[in-house]
Amino acid sequence: MSGSAERLGAAARRELVRSCLEARRLRSRPVISGYSVGAALLGGDGRLYCAGNIECWGQTPSICAERTALFKALSELCTDFAALAVCGGPADREPEDFCTPCGVCRQVLLQFCPPDMPVLCVKRPQEVREYTLAQLLPDYWTRPGTSQQGEHP
Ligand code: ZN
Repeated sequence: MSGSAERLGAAARRELVRSCLEARRLRSRPVISGYSVGAALLGGDGRLYCAGNIECWGQTPSICAERTALFKALSELCTDFAALAVCGGPADREPEDFCTPCGVCRQVLLQFCPPDMPVLCVKRPQEVREYTLAQLLPDYWTRPGTSQQGEHP
């Protein structure tokens, strides 16, 4: 378990899990795939940024729940992140398996969030798999010359 994971308390963990499941139900717009995803991102400011995947008919402009939550947070000036929870499954029923962030989201999250940030992949409230961001994308790419996540050039 990483340092960030140890700092994430039981109450925060429960709230993240509950919030990503709720975000999947309320905030997802899976008009193409029928696969609903929910994400809850805990900012260092203590706020939760929740989102669902939003699909557009042209498909290309569609965006994952994880990046929507991150961009919500960044646009609200949150630049410090503590943990992410994500869940997904067919829109017409409860999740039947664990859903992990896609490769694009992993790379984008690693630009702005600490590599040891916990990522909780939720199937049900009592069934959670925990990774760190760096475990999900080992040897991730960083822009040469940058030393911090999200640092402006
Ligand atoms: Zn994604």
